[in-house]
Amino acid sequence: MTEVRLNAVQKRFGAFTAIESIDLDIKSGELVALLGPSGCGKTTTLRMIAGLEAPTSGEVLFDGKDVSDVAVQKRNVGMVFQRYALFPHMTVEKNVTFGLDVRGLPKQEINERLEEILDVVQLNQFRKRFPAQLSGGQMQRVAIARTLITKPSVLMMDEPLANLDTKLRGEMRRFIRELQKRLGITTIFVTHDQVEAMELADRVAVIFNGKLAQFGAPQELYQQPNSTEVADFMGASNIFSARLLAADRAEASFGIIEITPQAGLTTGADVHVMLRSEGIDLYPQAEAPQGTQNLISGQIKAREFFGASVQYVVSAGGADITVAEQSRRLLDVGQPVILSVQPDRVWTIAR
Ligand code: ATP
Repeated sequence: MTEVRLNAVQKRFGAFTAIESIDLDIKSGELVALLGPSGCGKTTTLRMIAGLEAPTSGEVLFDGKDVSDVAVQKRNVGMVFQRYALFPHMTVEKNVTFGLDVRGLPKQEINERLEEILDVVQLNQFRKRFPAQLSGGQMQRVAIARTLITKPSVLMMDEPLANLDTKLRGEMRRFIRELQKRLGITTIFVTHDQVEAMELADRVAVIFNGKLAQFGAPQELYQQPNSTEVADFMGASNIFSARLLAADRAEASFGIIEITPQAGLTTGADVHVMLRSEGIDLYPQAEAPQGTQNLISGQIKAREFFGASVQYVVSAGGADITVAEQSRRLLDVGQPVILSVQPDRVWTIAR
C-alpha cells in the first residue's frame, strides 16, 4: 500500500495554468475521488501522479519519496480508462495476461495470478470469450483485471464508468468499491459525477478551475461545503443570502432563523445560509407545531411526485425553498404552509 502526496503541485501548458498549486494527501489504502466539471484539471492531476505529465513546479511523493523524476513505468501505478482498449482478437485470459507475457514473467506465476484475478473480478466463466462477446460492464472488468494483475501500488481510474448505462454504472460502482476495500489498494478515481464520487470515495477532492476547492469525506462536502460553488456542485438547492444578526441568528428574506454558530463568522457579516431540502419539515398552516424554533410561512408553488418521495417548492418571502418529504400525504399547490428547520440543519457559508 502506498501513500500519495502532492506538495504545491502546479501545471502550466505554455501560458495557460491548468493546475494552480494543489496540496493533497492520500492515505494508504484510501479511495479518493477527484471531482469537478469538465476542464477543471482532474485528468491533468491524475496524469501528474501517474508520471505521464511532469509538474511545472511542486513535488509528487509516494510514501514520502519524491517521484517527480521517476518514469511512469517505474512508479508501479495501474491505470483504467473510460475506453477499455482491449485487444479484439485476444480472449479475456490473453487480454488480462498480455502485460505480464510481454514482461517475460515465468508462465507459472502468470497462471497463478490469472486464476486469482479472474476470481476477484468474477470473470472465470468468460475467460475464453473475445471482447465482442462481452457486455460493457464485463469489458470494464477485464480492463480492471488487466491492470490489477500487474499488482500496482496505486490504482488510477479516469471516468471508467462513463460508457455504461445508469443501472450498470451503479453495479460497477459497488463492485469497484468492494474490490478496492478487499484489496486495500490506494485508489484515485476521476469523475465529474458528484453522486458517483460520494458513493465510491472515502474522501472527495473537489477541483474548480485548477484549484482544490475542498477536500473531505462525502458527508462533509454535502453537509458542510466551504463555498456556494461546492454546495451547488454537490447538489444543494436552498442557498440564500442572509446577514448574521448574532452568532446563532441570521436574517434572510423569509425571516429570521436560528442557526448553529460556526467559527470564523462575525456578527453583521453578509453570509449565505444553506437549508438542506431533506432537513425541512412541512406542515399545513393550521397544523403548525407550537413552541418550535425556526418557523417560516409560505405557500406551495410547485409539487413533484416521485413515488416514495415528493418534492415541493415553497415560496416564502420572495425565496423559493425546496422541501423533500416522504409522500405519506400530499399537500396541494397554492396551499399555505409552515416550514420548520432545526438550527443544526442550517449551514452558514461566508461570503
Ligand atoms: P474532462 O472531465 O473534460 O476530462 P478534466 O477536468 O480532466 O476535464 P483536464 O483534461 O485535466 O481537465 O484539462 C485541464 C485544462 O488543461 C483544460 O482546460 C485543458 O484544455 C488543458 N489541457 C490539458 N492538457 C493540455 C495540453 N497538453 N496542452 C494544453 N492544454 C491542456
